[in-house]
Amino acid sequence: CGIVGYVGKESAQEVILQGLEKLEYRGYDSAGIAILEDGVIKSDKFKGRLSVLSDYLNDHPISGSLGIGHTRWATHGAPSDENSHPHLNKESTIAVVHNGIIENYVSLKEELIAKGYEFKSQTDTEVIVHLLDSIYEGDLLEAVNKLTKLIRGAYAIGVVCSKNPGEMVAVRNESPLIVGLGKDENFIASDIPALLKYTRDVCILENGETVHLTPEKVTIYSKDHEIVQREKFTVDWDV
Ligand code: GLU
Repeated sequence: CGIVGYVGKESAQEVILQGLEKLEYRGYDSAGIAILEDGVIKSDKFKGRLSVLSDYLNDHPISGSLGIGHTRWATHGAPSDENSHPHLNKESTIAVVHNGIIENYVSLKEELIAKGYEFKSQTDTEVIVHLLDSIYEGDLLEAVNKLTKLIRGAYAIGVVCSKNPGEMVAVRNESPLIVGLGKDENFIASDIPALLKYTRDVCILENGETVHLTPEKVTIYSKDHEIVQREKFTVDWDV
């Protein structure tokens, strides 16, 4: 269970795969990626080792400089291609990676199915993307703020939306998430080693905090949606 996200100017595929490799110690059974390529979210995900995904991407590369990746440690739904993250909405305009457990996913899933949403996986995570789809009104940060009022449990979530190119939003509660700061590029990850190849300037997100990232700017918000001034620190160790 690891998350890496990138917003910048370089190849998101490269940064995310490099990062996920450094999170291998966290254990996983599947790996996947979603990248905004020419305004469209492209996603590939496979059961198995990270090399299954990276071998496939070697032959079928995705270009683009905004994306999220995930290594899954299944809690709800067996390891399979369909249950791997990212999860996308029907129109493939929103992609979500999640580390943790959504405790109230059964009732949320029932409500979403009643509204006409179709589920492709057995995961608890898939409710997140359909919920976002149902509450999204053009502002990704606002949609994630509304989402966190509806879901309960442990989570680190990364979201991208093709209607908000150049933006990424992430939120955490109980599951770890850090922010990496670069020049004209910024990152999220489950742990620091994932980012050391790219930056040593890091902020730790606290429980309940949300972060909005563009290539130029990182803004952290408290649970109550107030802007938080978080000092960055410089990592002086290596892995
Ligand atoms: N609960 C989610 C799933 O089973 C996320 C697991 C994880 O943290 O990797 O898909």
